[in-house]
Amino acid sequence: PLRARVENLNFYYADGFQALRNVSMPILDRQVTALIGPSGCGKSTLLRCYNRMHDLYPGNRYEGSVILEPEGENLIGPDADPVLVRLRIGMVFQKPNPFPKSIYENVAAGLRVRGVRNRALIDEAVETALRRAAIWDEVKDRLDGSAYDMSGGQQQRLCIARALAPNPEILLLDEPTSALDPIATAKVEDLVQELSKDVTVVIVTHNMQQAARISNRTAFMHIGQLMEFDETSKIFTNP
Ligand code: ADP
Ligand code: ADP
Repeated sequence: PLRARVENLNFYYADGFQALRNVSMPILDRQVTALIGPSGCGKSTLLRCYNRMHDLYPGNRYEGSVILEPEGENLIGPDADPVLVRLRIGMVFQKPNPFPKSIYENVAAGLRVRGVRNRALIDEAVETALRRAAIWDEVKDRLDGSAYDMSGGQQQRLCIARALAPNPEILLLDEPTSALDPIATAKVEDLVQELSKDVTVVIVTHNMQQAARISNRTAFMHIGQLMEFDETSKIFTNP
């Protein structure tokens, strides 16, 4: 089933530059969709439309719609609250960017934004998210320790746990392994495939092999446009 669809999406940065040109694309439920294409083609720009990240910078402008299914809600419509959209559509960046806080507080952050105050509920959500991100065993004895005292690979899985804690409907990953060594990369790739059993994932990658390894669908972009969208196995067998 369909989880989301972008319809006739145009996006303009504050300087007037049009970075997306009439993009329409489905996102399938509990699949991994990879966004690929040359540097500067608009992958990251498209990813940031799903969670209203662009609203953090004044002057950026959307046209068209980003529909979340099955509700049919337009995430870039006037009724959608960008702060809540960012919790519902979680995001992880290229460089691990934990908050300068404890491991526990990093994962609890989204729940606190949502107004959750009950300590037992937060404890449970933190443990669940850390387990889903396959890092619980490594951190359970040092939840009060600083997130900065972790390896890069651990920090990235912590950032995935932070994004998962509010139970997002979609998880966005913007080149999540480019700053990691091969072992940490393999762990994150395995984790992404495991997570897609119960959460929809959209991943930007410049690594074709990675897209072929871990995605079900691939979108190929070029100069702000969607050139091709298909099952990954079909995209990568085309001559
Ligand atoms: P990709 O992720 O595919 O490398 P981006 O989405 O980062 O590409 O960028 C798409 C285009 O938008 C590029 O031409 C880039 O220079 C431009 N761009 C990115 N950020 C901004 C910005 N803040 N203001 C203006 N143009 C931008
Ligand atoms: P970085 O070193 O990762 O580029 P920046 O502080 O420049 O760090 O920006 C943080 C992120 O926010 C970057 O990934 C960048 O693409 C994005 N960004 C910067 N300016 C804008 C903008 N005007 N609109 C949307 N995203 C932006």
